[in-house]
Formats: sequence, C-alpha cells, structure tokens
Amino acid sequence: MNFSLRQKNLRQQLSESKIDAILVSHLPNIRYLCGFTGSAGFLLVSEREKVFFTDSRYRRQAQEQVKGAKVIIARNAVLKAIGDWIGHHHKRWKLGIEAEHLTVAERKRLLDLLPSGLRLLNAPPFVERARMVKDKEELQCIRSAVQLGASLFDRALEVIKPGVKEVEVAAEMEYQARRAGAEGMSFPTIIASGARSALPHGRASEQCIAPGGFVVCDFGVILNGYCSDQTRTVWVGLELDKARSAYYAVKTAQEAAIAAVRSGITVGDVDSAARKVLAKSGFGRYFTHSTGHGVGLEIHEPPRVAAAQTEVLNPGMVITIEPGIYFPGEWGIRIEDMVAVTANGCEILTPTGKDFVAV
Ligand code: ZN
Ligand code: ZN
Repeated sequence: MNFSLRQKNLRQQLSESKIDAILVSHLPNIRYLCGFTGSAGFLLVSEREKVFFTDSRYRRQAQEQVKGAKVIIARNAVLKAIGDWIGHHHKRWKLGIEAEHLTVAERKRLLDLLPSGLRLLNAPPFVERARMVKDKEELQCIRSAVQLGASLFDRALEVIKPGVKEVEVAAEMEYQARRAGAEGMSFPTIIASGARSALPHGRASEQCIAPGGFVVCDFGVILNGYCSDQTRTVWVGLELDKARSAYYAVKTAQEAAIAAVRSGITVGDVDSAARKVLAKSGFGRYFTHSTGHGVGLEIHEPPRVAAAQTEVLNPGMVITIEPGIYFPGEWGIRIEDMVAVTANGCEILTPTGKDFVAV
C-alpha cells in the first residue's frame, strides 16, 4: 500500500486547514495511513512530523508494520506519552481530533495532559474522505474479499432447508469462510427466515427454517483487512406467484440502481433510481432503508447511498446497492451487490446470480 502518498495527501489537507496537526485515533484510519493493524495506538500527523504512539504490547508489531512514522512506545498510558511529546515540542498547537471516534473520557484525559496553551479542535473527516476512493491495490483486496464472500452463498444453498436452524446455516458459512482464509466475518451473519425476514437486520437465531417463506442471507468476510458485503434472498418450499413477483420488483430496482452508478452522479440519484422502480410496482412504502453504503476497511463507511444525499461518485469508490422490501409479520426480500465506480459506469464485483431461487 502507498502509505507515503496517503500521508502526503493528509499533510496537504492540514496545510490548507486551520489546524496544525491531527491526532488520528480511529484504528481503520491509522491502518490506512501507516499500516498498523493492532488494536491500540494513535498517529500524530503535522505538516512536518509523523509519530505513532502505542504501548509495549505492540512494540514489535509497530516496529514491523508502521510505515513513514516514528514509533514511540509509551512507558505508561499512551495518552500521557502523547501529552508529554506535544508538551515538549509544540505547546501552542491547534490540535485536531477525530470527534467521531475519540470518546468523551479520552478527550478530557487528553486535555488534562496537554499543555495549557494548546487548543483542541474537531478535525474535518480528512481520512474518511480520502478512504472513499480506493486505489488499485485496495480494489484488488476488495475483489478477493468479495469472491471469497460470494463462495459462502453456495454453501448456504446446500444447507438451507426446512427444519434447519438459522444459526446452523450461519455456522456452516462462517466455518467455510475461516477455512478459506478469511480473517473474520465483516459483521454477524444475517440469516432471517419466515417473518424474521421482514427484519432488515435479523441476525441468525435459533429459529428453524419453515417452508413457505423467504430466507434473507446477508453476510461478508474480511480478507487482508478489507470487507465484503452481499445479500441474497431465497424462497423455501412451494413457490408463490406473489413472492416471485415481489422478488423480481426488488431485482429490477437493484439493477436500475446499478445501471445509474457512474462517475459524476450523486449518491442520491442512485438511491432514487431504485426507489422509483419500487414505487412504480406499488412497493415504495415497503422500502424502508437507504440503498447502500461505502465498503472498504470498514463494513459501513462513507458515502451513504441514501435519499437526498449529495455526495458525487468518483472512480474508485466502492459501494453496495441493496434495496429491499419488508412486510412486517410476513416476509422480506433484499438483494445486495458491491460495485466499484468507473468513469463510464461501474464494475459489478459480486459474481452471484440473482434469479429467483426456491429450495
Ligand atoms: Zn449486507
Ligand atoms: Zn450492506
């Protein structure tokens, strides 16, 4: 990964802003900027300096992984080491913090430890904005994660049948994921059958799958740090015309949104492409969530693909397209793919077919 370019971009942003330095505390942002994958650390970046702080548990890992920054191992608390370092070098800094990620308690502790002439400011989401556009290497990681993730659905299709518990389906998928090299799941696997399929986030439960209903399978893996995210919905038992036509309405909406994706269009326009189709087929009010979200080092990251959002798509952005309709107490349907924005359209990353499947 090109950490030096990422660091250079951040320093450029700093030079154009009114803060002197930023204390990066969000671990995915730290990983993105300098390569550290551990669970405790802070990266301090100013126009001239880059310093990574962690504790002695991560001495070796930090020395091996951290690129382009000086590593300081705190003797005691990491925040204390940061306070001491800044107190020694830059007593009058305007220091930016990641307000979305630093806890209220950490902010207070930091203020207590920092020199009194220093000011804490909320930094703009510089790193999140940079992370929206994936470079070639990241796209390659994402493609691999999506391929591995998609293979789990084949396993699900072998397992899903009446009488099998939702957690058993999830367990088989997750076992296969780990065997195939996944670092973990990108979120708790959703297997929602029967009336539970009408819950947009129905985590796999002890419920047995019963004939005559949909099963929503929403799942993803983490591979080389990058997440995949995919949803397929299958019917169990004898086919119902009503179920089939609702399924195809969602599929048409999902494909319309994918067809709308291209560089220069807003995410709001992508959302409305899906919404229009569902409104036309009479299902508009059953589509109760947004159309999608960015994916990368985190399962949910900017941009939000939602109504009236004005973020403009650029080549290299990776988003999900996942319209769904939900009839409370009855059933629900969602279809989700990941796509990478290109100049003229998009690359559909998810390889799995979308035809109505009954098992
Ligand atoms: Zn999903
Ligand atoms: Zn998603």
